Amino acid sequence: MAKYTPMIEQYLSVKEEAKDAFLFFRLGDFYEMFFDDAILAAKELEITLTGRAGGADEKIPMCGVPYHSAESYIQRLIEKGYKVAICEQVEDPAEAKGVVRREIVRVVTPGTMMEGKAVSEKSNNYMVAVTEIDKVMAVAACDLSTGELHVTSSPSSKEWLRDEIGIYTPSEIIGDEGLIGWIKEQAGPLGKPVVYTPRSKAPDESGRRQFGEAAWIRLEPERRACVAMLVTYLGETQKRSLGQLSRISAYEPEQFMILDPFTRRNLELVETVRDRSKKGSLLHLLDRTQTSMGARLLRRWVDKPLLSSSQVEARLEAVEELFGAFMLREDLKDKLKGIYDLERLVGRIAFGTANGRDLNALKLSLRQIPELKELCSDSRSNTLSRLASGLDDCGDLAELIEEAIADDPPVSVRDGGLIRPGYHAKLDELREASTNGKRWIADLEAAERQATGIKSLKVGYNKVFGYYIEITKSNLTALPEGRYERKQTLANAERFVTPELKEREALILEAEDRMLDLEYGLFTEIRDKLSANIPRLQRLAEAVAEIDVLRSLAEVSSDSGFVKPVLTDGYDMIVENGRHPVVETVMEGRAFIANGTALKQDASILLITGPNMAGKSTYMRQVALISILAQIGCFVPAARAEIPIVDRIFTRIGAADDLIGGQSTFMVEMADIQVMTDKATARSLIIIDELGRGTSTTEGIAIAQAVIEYVHDVIGCKALVSTHFHELAHLESALPGLRNYSMAVQESGEKVHFLRKLVPGAASTSYGIYCAKLAGLPSVITDRASGLLGELEQVPVAAGKMSSPAASMDAVSAVREDASPVYAAVEPASASADSKPAPASDMGIIQLSMFGDEPVQPQSASAKEDARLRGLLKQLKQADIMNMTPLQAMGLLNELKMKAKDL
Ligand code: ADP
Repeated sequence: MAKYTPMIEQYLSVKEEAKDAFLFFRLGDFYEMFFDDAILAAKELEITLTGRAGGADEKIPMCGVPYHSAESYIQRLIEKGYKVAICEQVEDPAEAKGVVRREIVRVVTPGTMMEGKAVSEKSNNYMVAVTEIDKVMAVAACDLSTGELHVTSSPSSKEWLRDEIGIYTPSEIIGDEGLIGWIKEQAGPLGKPVVYTPRSKAPDESGRRQFGEAAWIRLEPERRACVAMLVTYLGETQKRSLGQLSRISAYEPEQFMILDPFTRRNLELVETVRDRSKKGSLLHLLDRTQTSMGARLLRRWVDKPLLSSSQVEARLEAVEELFGAFMLREDLKDKLKGIYDLERLVGRIAFGTANGRDLNALKLSLRQIPELKELCSDSRSNTLSRLASGLDDCGDLAELIEEAIADDPPVSVRDGGLIRPGYHAKLDELREASTNGKRWIADLEAAERQATGIKSLKVGYNKVFGYYIEITKSNLTALPEGRYERKQTLANAERFVTPELKEREALILEAEDRMLDLEYGLFTEIRDKLSANIPRLQRLAEAVAEIDVLRSLAEVSSDSGFVKPVLTDGYDMIVENGRHPVVETVMEGRAFIANGTALKQDASILLITGPNMAGKSTYMRQVALISILAQIGCFVPAARAEIPIVDRIFTRIGAADDLIGGQSTFMVEMADIQVMTDKATARSLIIIDELGRGTSTTEGIAIAQAVIEYVHDVIGCKALVSTHFHELAHLESALPGLRNYSMAVQESGEKVHFLRKLVPGAASTSYGIYCAKLAGLPSVITDRASGLLGELEQVPVAAGKMSSPAASMDAVSAVREDASPVYAAVEPASASADSKPAPASDMGIIQLSMFGDEPVQPQSASAKEDARLRGLLKQLKQADIMNMTPLQAMGLLNELKMKAKDL
C-alpha cells in the first residue's frame, strides 16, 4: 500500500518545486498546509494546527486559511521574510479523472508584492539582483508594482555595491553566491532584505524576450546578465506576462553623487536615525507632492543628487519659475490631486489584476492631463514646456474606458455590471432578455394572485430549485386542479412551477450566464488593449511625477524662505546665513541661528571645537544638506549660496555605530576612514564628527591629526571636522588650508549659554563637566571631576605615559615637523597668517573655562596658585593685542595686574 493518499502524493510533488516557500495548497475553499509547513505556519500565523489522515496510519500535521482571506495571511508571512507559493486547481473538478490537477500559479516573495502593506503608496518596493563577471559588478533593481527597472555596473568594489544597493533599500536581493555571502554580512547598513542565490540559470534569451532585441543589445554584457537573472527569477515566481517591465533604465554611477548608507542615515535624508520614521527627514520636509508617483520620484531624487550641472540647472529653472508663480503652483496642484497612481494602475493592468474601478481611476487621471499640459506649456519655464510638449495625454485610452466601463463598477470582474450599456449590442440584447424575463416574473405574482384569488401567493427563487410559485397549505384547496406542476413540499406550503415559468427561467439563466462570460471577455479585451499601450502610459506617469516633484520643491522653497543656489564648476562653497532645513522647522518658538560657510581652496578644512550641545553637528549636517538640496535642483536655506558640484559626501558620525553588531565603535570608525581615504576626491565633502574617539586620548589625537593632515595634503577636499581635542587647534598654523572655528558660548556666573554661532578661533574647553551638571549628575561627582581636572592640568609630562591632553600634544606635534609647540593649541587664530579670520574674542564672545580662572575645589594651596598662574598665562597668550584699542589693552593690563596681585 502506498505510503500516502494520491492527494498527499500530489502535494509532495508540488512541494518539491517550492522547497524554500510555504506551499498554500488549494483544497475547496481553503489553502491548506501540511507537514513542517503546517507546524511553522501555525506558529507564525497563530492558527490551529490539526491533523489529517494522509495514508497508511500516519496522521499528517495540517493547518489552513480560507481562500477569500488568504491575502492577509500571505502578507504576514512575507513581512516575516518568508515566501509563499500558491498552488491552485488547474482543471475543472467535474472533468478531472482522479485527483484534480494542481499547479503553483505564483510565488509571492517580499520583492514581488504587488499589493498590501509592503507596497506603501509613497515608496517603492524594490527587488534587486547583483552579479559579478570579469571583475565588473552589476546591480539591477525592479519594482514590479510600478514597472521600473534600473540597471548599472562598475568595476568590482564591495563599497560601490553596498552604496548602490543602499539606494534602493530592497526587500529582497538575489545574486551570485559569493556576493550574496558578503551581502548577508552587511545586515546593518542594508536593512533586512531576504537574500539568496536563485537556483536556475538565467538565459540571455529571457531579457531579449522581455525588452526586445534593440534595447537588449544596447546593454553591456554584465548588465545583461544581471537583468536576465532578475527577469528569469520574476518569470519563475510570477508565472505570467510582465508587461509592466517594458523599459530598462540604465545609468552610469558617475551620474550621481555618491552617498553611502551611513551618510544617508547620518544626514537623515529619508528617515530619522532615532526611529527610522520619514517624519523629521529631509524627504518629509520636501514632500509636498500630490501624486504617489511624484512622492516616489522625489525620493529617488533625494537618493541620487545629480552631478551634471546642466541637469541640475534644468530643474532649478523650473523650480525658480514655480517659486515665483503662486497661482500656477496652485492650479497645478489642483490638477495633480486628481491623478491616481498611474504607475501602479499600469502595473495592475499588465499583471491582469486591474478591475473596473482601476480602469475608471485611470480614466479620471487621464482627464486631468490636457489642462496640466496647458498649464506647463503656458509657463515661462523651458523645463516645464519641454515636459509638456512630450506629454501624450492618452486621450484615446480615456475614451475607450469611458465608452466601455460603467460609472460605478463592482470590485469583482466576474459578477457583471462592469460594461456600460450601449457598448456592445449582444450584451445589451442579453441584458434586455434577462430584464424582460425578470419583469415577466415580477408581473406573474400579481397575475396569478388575480387568477387564483389566493392573496398570499408568492413568486420566489432559490439556487437549487430556481423560480417557483408558493402557496400555503391552507390555500391549496382554492387552487384550481392542474393549474401548476408540483415541485417542492415544505412544512406549511407547496411550491409549483408552470411550463412557461420554466421556459422564462431557462432564458433568464442562460442570458445571465452568457452575460457574465461576455462581460468578463469584453473587460479583459479592454484591459488587453490598455496593456498594449503600457509604454505610453508609463512615459506619461514619469512626466507627471516630474512636474509634481518640481512643483513640490518650489512650494517648499517658497514657504521656507530658501534661495536659488548659484552652481559653479569651481571649488569654493560660499553660503551666507545658512540654516539646517529640518532643524529650523522644529525650533518651537526659538530662533534658529544662521551660520555662514566659506570653504575655499585656501581654507578648505574647518576644525570646529566647542562644547557638547553647542550646535556643531547641526552645523556640519546643514552644510551637507545644502549641497544635496542644490544638487537635486532645490533652492537652499540660506541668504545666498554659491555651490560647487560635490561628487561624494562622506560622513563619519558616531550615531550610526549601533547599527553594526560585533565591531567596536573604534574599528567601525577606522574602517570608515579607510574607505574615505581611498575614495574621496578633491571634489568631495567630508564631515567628521568627533574624530579619534574610542581609544586613548593620546592615540586619538595622533590619529585625528594624521587623518586631518592626509585630507589636507593628499585629498585636498572640503572638510568639516569637529573635535573635543582642543589641542589640535595648533594645526591651523601648520596647515595653510585649515581654519579653527568654534561654536560660541557665553558664560554668566556658573551658567553657560549656547549662542549657536560659528565663530573663528578654537574653543578652550569642552564644558564637559558643565554638561554633566546639566544632565543632573550628583554634585559630589561633578565637584570631584572639577578638582581632578585642576590636578590633571598640572601633571608634568611623564615620559611615555601622558594623561593630560595638553601634555600629549608634545608627542603629537613631534609627528609633524612644522607643527607648533604645545601651547599653540590655545593660541588664537590671529597669531597666524593675516588671511586667517579674527579670533572669537573680537566678537565679544568669551571663551574661557566656565569655572573662570579658578579650578573648583583645589587640592592644595600651591596647586591652586599654580592653576591661577596657568590661567593668567593662558589669558595673556590669548590676548589679541594687535586688534585691541589702546583702552582695551590698558584694561587687560590692569586686569592681569589685579590677578597677579592675588598670587
Ligand atoms: P553638538 O554637536 O555641538 O553637540 P548639536 O548640533 O547636536 O550640538 O545641537 C544641539 C541642539 O542645539 C540641537 O538639537 C538644536 O536643537 C540646537 N541647535 C543646534 N544648532 C542650532 C542653531 N544654529 N540655532 C538654534 N538651535 C540650534
